[in-house]
Amino acid sequence: MIIYDLICEHEHSFEGWFKSTEDYDRQLAEQMLCCPVCESSQVRKVPTASFVVTRDTRSSRKNANSESMKPIESNAKQQTIAKLAQLASYLIKNTEDVGRNFTEETKKMHYGETEQKSIRGQATLEEVKELNEEGIDIIALPGTIIEKDKLN
Ligand SMILES: [Zn+2]
Repeated sequence: MIIYDLICEHEHSFEGWFKSTEDYDRQLAEQMLCCPVCESSQVRKVPTASFVVTRDTRSSRKNANSESMKPIESNAKQQTIAKLAQLASYLIKNTEDVGRNFTEETKKMHYGETEQKSIRGQATLEEVKELNEEGIDIIALPGTIIEKDKLN
């Protein structure tokens, strides 16, 4: 089961539940998807992914850069996946889930309106671009990589 954030031509956003990506494609093609607010079938997927922002993003980024970047050998791939899973579960355990308020909360912290804390949540590509332009570093949560070929 997968959940997509969907949006209609009138910018109403809602969630759609699908058995698979193929199920989503099929329902979209057959115009079976419609907005619960205005019943428009002009519906598209909002590309989102999970991101985290932590109090020490900057310093951990610096540490990562100072380490020499070793090329990943193919037989080490399994290990890398395990490490990413470990990192993901660490981040999930140590951050507060703010869901779709991620962008807003991140900005509030950046401008000192709220206390600095480690949070995670969903953001669209558009929002990520916005945050980057404001000089805010966020980390994509491993395992939630955006399907680049499915954008737009
Ligand atoms: Zn609508």
